[in-house]
Amino acid sequence: MSVARLAPNTHHRGRARKDFMHYRYVIVGGGIAAAAAIEGIRAHDADGSILLLSRENHLPYQRPPLSKDLWNGSLDLEQLAIHAAEFYEQQRVDVRLRREVVELDSENRILWDDRGESVGFDHALLVTGCRPRRLQARGADSPSVRYFRALEDYLALETQMERIQHVTTVGGGFTAVELSAALRARGKEVTMIFPEEWPLRRILPREIGMALVDYLRSLDIETVSGETLVEITEEGNGFVRGTTYGGNSLTTQIILVDQGSEPQVDLAEAANLDTDDGIVVDEYGRCSRPGFWAAGDVAEFPYLALGQLERVEGSEHAEKHGRCVGANMAGAGVPYTHLPLKWFRVADLQFECVGELHSRLDSEVVWVEEGREGVVFYLRDDVVRGVILINTTDRLDWARAIISDAKAMDRTERAALVAAARA
Ligand SMILES: Cc1cc2nc3c(=O)[nH]c(=O)nc-3n(C[C@H](O)[C@H](O)[C@H](O)COP(=O)(O)OP(=O)(O)OC[C@H]3O[C@@H](n4cnc5c(N)ncnc54)[C@H](O)[C@@H]3O)c2cc1C
Repeated sequence: MSVARLAPNTHHRGRARKDFMHYRYVIVGGGIAAAAAIEGIRAHDADGSILLLSRENHLPYQRPPLSKDLWNGSLDLEQLAIHAAEFYEQQRVDVRLRREVVELDSENRILWDDRGESVGFDHALLVTGCRPRRLQARGADSPSVRYFRALEDYLALETQMERIQHVTTVGGGFTAVELSAALRARGKEVTMIFPEEWPLRRILPREIGMALVDYLRSLDIETVSGETLVEITEEGNGFVRGTTYGGNSLTTQIILVDQGSEPQVDLAEAANLDTDDGIVVDEYGRCSRPGFWAAGDVAEFPYLALGQLERVEGSEHAEKHGRCVGANMAGAGVPYTHLPLKWFRVADLQFECVGELHSRLDSEVVWVEEGREGVVFYLRDDVVRGVILINTTDRLDWARAIISDAKAMDRTERAALVAAARA
């Protein structure tokens, strides 16, 4: 466990407890899990006071459209909010935006925000999500180097679209792949640089990864594998020069970095909550100290169907886990048994992923239509641990049932399953 500490704010601690606003529930973070947690709480506690603190400028919104639907016009900015402002009034939730929680006192159940205001609580839900991994390159503090996590990142890029002709994505993560396709569809020249032979190397097996590379090339996206940027220099007039590890260089206008994300566990660590690859919770969402809960991207939870701890970065999981843990804060006592979905879409290729997905597991691809439609099974000792559905609609429950059954099957039986599911 890391021992990172936030700057202490000890001068507040001398105040008498009666000075504090006190809430029954405090939600730290304003994303998908936060919005769902409110519904979970209210399903079991109609009256308990709720405070939501978020460092963002906006009420909770859906992140997936930031790299897809907003670019192709299938969704407007106005449709992004998870709930309209009235929802928070109706549910009697106090919302404080542009507030960063900087300290948690887990003994006395008090938190402080970046304006020095403190709040006492009975239950705190940590739904602080993830932050992008930073690019370690000389000149990476250039304003042309961008990360892409929040609505502000979308707005900043969108307002520059008119004057941008060339974009480079670096890192080969989900957002890099999706944005490369989205910006290409908007007529931009796009170069993708990724460190392995194919993007999403940690998840996709070689066959699918290389099919994805072919697909990106068919969209006229330039792909550079086995590379990263090590230096960025300003060239003037809004252009920058990127130099790769291998000594090649390119001139571009925007460098979008997506090398994956890391869970924002700093607050939890500083409050002495157990962390590992995320904040460790039990099947109810409880952290290692009473009164603390975590959900969504930041939480490492017992994935009951797999019998192991997992952390899942996915919008459907954030919603379901957030709602479940919110309900448990209000006394529901329901374990999280859901097999969460992680999905992504690259132009017209849709990937739906469930279970344990790691390219180090054995995998098998069953194509229905080569390169267009198929199923990837992730296997351990011939037991299916994870499934990716490629352009295969309405098969999620089918995939979940195969993982839950945990039966050993041979190749013929798996192929027969796919055929039967199509019939
Ligand atoms: C561009 C993009 C596209 C995506 N597309 C897909 C997709 O297609 N499919 C899919 O399944 N998933 C997708 N995801 C992932 C999905 O959006 C996340 O899994 C989901 O948003 C996680 O929700 P969350 O509530 O756990 O965390 P987040 O949505 O990250 O919310 C965390 C919130 O906490 C706030 N916060 C953090 N620390 C503090 C603090 N100390 N004080 C106050 N506030 C704080 C943050 O500002 C943020 O508002 C995408 C993500 C991005 C960025």
